[in-house]
Amino acid sequence: KLASNENPLGPSKKVLAAVAQAAGDIARYPDSNAYQLKQVLAERLAVSPQQLTLGNGSNDVLELLARTFLEPGKSAVLSQHAFIVYAMAVQACGARPIVTAAKARGHDLDAMLAAIEADTRLLFIANPNNPTGTFIARDALLDFLDQVPDRVIVVLDEAYIEYSDGDDFPDGVALLSRYPNLVVTRTFSKAWGLAALRVGYSVASEAITDLLNRVRAPFNVNALGLAAAVAVLGDEAYLEAGRQLNREGMQQLETGFAAMGLSWIPSRGNFLAVQMPAEAMTVYQQLLAEGVIVRPIGIYQMEQHLRVSIGLAEENRVFLNALKKVLNR
Ligand code: PMP
Repeated sequence: KLASNENPLGPSKKVLAAVAQAAGDIARYPDSNAYQLKQVLAERLAVSPQQLTLGNGSNDVLELLARTFLEPGKSAVLSQHAFIVYAMAVQACGARPIVTAAKARGHDLDAMLAAIEADTRLLFIANPNNPTGTFIARDALLDFLDQVPDRVIVVLDEAYIEYSDGDDFPDGVALLSRYPNLVVTRTFSKAWGLAALRVGYSVASEAITDLLNRVRAPFNVNALGLAAAVAVLGDEAYLEAGRQLNREGMQQLETGFAAMGLSWIPSRGNFLAVQMPAEAMTVYQQLLAEGVIVRPIGIYQMEQHLRVSIGLAEENRVFLNALKKVLNR
């Protein structure tokens, strides 16, 4: 299964122990204010706990942002090929998504700036973006943030930041003191290996965080997820092993694609969008028959691409062999 950008290592051992221990308490509601996790996270990120909003996955936080700041008559700017949840969250609030055309598959920041209207309240950026893996470098992001009007909240989705190597890659949390209209979202679902437990969060000014926490449902993060997140933050070796595996796996897939004469979009995440010679949906079905699950991304207007998550070396090998067979390469 290389379809959902999960951590192929499986969970950290420290997480399994913490979850087993927390399981004894599941007749009780979780700590609605997530005191302990916020303390640990705040320290790690060098922010105050009053800047953190936790969610049932970062998906929950993205929806919370939309519910807090949007309503019919308001709009939000987002890019073509951007993570699909932004448009869904905006529309579910009765607000209007303004979608700008992608540039070289990535976000066109100039077009996004120009698309801001009088009723625009939110602007979504995924860095790196899913499903393309494209990213915005630090200088370009700063230049952009300098120009966004204060009344527009910029949501910078950093779900994959732990995989995003490179000195040119911006750390959104470090920019918060400079841009009070910035909200950074992150997750424990990817590099931290807790996808099933659903824990994500945002970091923002205390003023924005206060609004989010007023709209947030009580107990929106479960007790096992809270315990697991605290435990995994103490397992730096697990994070590093996952990053290393990702670098090697990315290389393995790129080498395999090159050997088959396929082109792909360079990615800063734990996945690659690779272009098929024909309709990707057909190849997807054929791969399924070989026992390999990847993600067709026609819903992102990328009918010729498949998105494949970086797996264990053996999983990558099985996938490449299946692809070779299916494509006759
Ligand atoms: N943002 C991006 C860019 C994603 O790819 C995903 C997961 N597919 C999410 C947010 C949401 O993940 P989660 O709700 O598990 O935190």
